[in-house]
Amino acid sequence: MGSGPAGLTAAADLARLGYKVTIFESLHKAGGVLSYGIPEFRLPKAIVQQEVEYIKSLGVEFKPNYIIGRIKTLDALSEEFDAVFLGTGAGLPRFMGIEGENLNGVYSANEFLTRVNLMKAYDPEYDTLVRKGKKVVVVGGGNVAMDSARSALRLGAEEVNVVYRRGEEEMPARREEVEHAREEGIVFRLFSNPTRVLGDDKFNVTGIECIKMEPGEPDESGRRSPVPIEGSEFTLEADVVIIAIGTSPNPIIFKGSEGLEQSRRGTVVAEAGTGATSKPGVFAGGDVVTGAATVISAMGAGKKAAKAIDEYLKNN
Ligand SMILES: Cc1cc2nc3c(=O)[nH]c(=O)nc-3n(C[C@H](O)[C@H](O)[C@H](O)COP(=O)(O)OP(=O)(O)OC[C@H]3O[C@@H](n4cnc5c(N)ncnc54)[C@H](O)[C@@H]3O)c2cc1C
Repeated sequence: MGSGPAGLTAAADLARLGYKVTIFESLHKAGGVLSYGIPEFRLPKAIVQQEVEYIKSLGVEFKPNYIIGRIKTLDALSEEFDAVFLGTGAGLPRFMGIEGENLNGVYSANEFLTRVNLMKAYDPEYDTLVRKGKKVVVVGGGNVAMDSARSALRLGAEEVNVVYRRGEEEMPARREEVEHAREEGIVFRLFSNPTRVLGDDKFNVTGIECIKMEPGEPDESGRRSPVPIEGSEFTLEADVVIIAIGTSPNPIIFKGSEGLEQSRRGTVVAEAGTGATSKPGVFAGGDVVTGAATVISAMGAGKKAAKAIDEYLKNN
């Protein structure tokens, strides 16, 4: 289940070992975040599709537009197949829960990037709608925030502000991503946190109100949580706001999945070395287990799980 780096790697390794493999993918295109999230200017989609074609040439069957948990359950797949690998990622966006978040022009980074990358909203040949903001605010400090900000710039934005509640050294984005964003003219509003999204009488976003933050007392881990500075509110004008504050696994995968253990964070609980879950014959790896992480760790998890599935099938 899932054709991101975890699923594709597991499928390729199992196909090479001689197993018949089927991938169920909820989107119309394979590749996971490599196809719908990471923008073309960082990862050309032709490269991703070349890899997908190679994996298909190994005999892997690909079933697109197939949502597990809706069209078919994990329980049904477990009956139908000798083993199942769950590599469905962490694609459910988090929101801030503040006033105005449902105004027109406010996107989750997932929706924005999917419209731009997978559904080619930048190309006039395509009917995909996306609001091409002139003044864009991106909330968050990770790679996803950097990709959203830089994509907005390429869609024609004149001003892009990234709002992040901590300092630059604490930004989870890779250094080079931050540097590239800055070189392209993106402005960083550090130690700032949104308090509400502002709109007009037609429910279109017009701006975002933020408050300045400062490092608070260190918590048990020694990390200093930022606290708001009273009376320091300020407003940024915006016609598009993109929220990139993290994602978690979509809970739909747990529908009809008797005995599959879930962590408090909503991830699938799986053994580190093998990906074995609490459900016999079901293995899991990648972001669905770790929460949002990296391509290389998802591929590593796919490899380990393929080896473990091979052993499981030989012994059962
Ligand atoms: C914008 C962005 C930029 C990133 N940049 C980097 C980077 O520079 N370097 C890096 O190492 N990592 C980066 N990451 C993180 C990296 O892409 C992920 O950690 C990695 O893709 C996780 O792989 P995965 O296979 O576990 O899941 P995913 O890539 O999320 O793939 C999961 C697949 O499962 C499918 N699926 C979900 N639910 C179902 C269902 N119910 N039924 C069937 N199919 C389903 C999804 O459609 C998707 O195709 C970035 C992530 C994002 C979003």
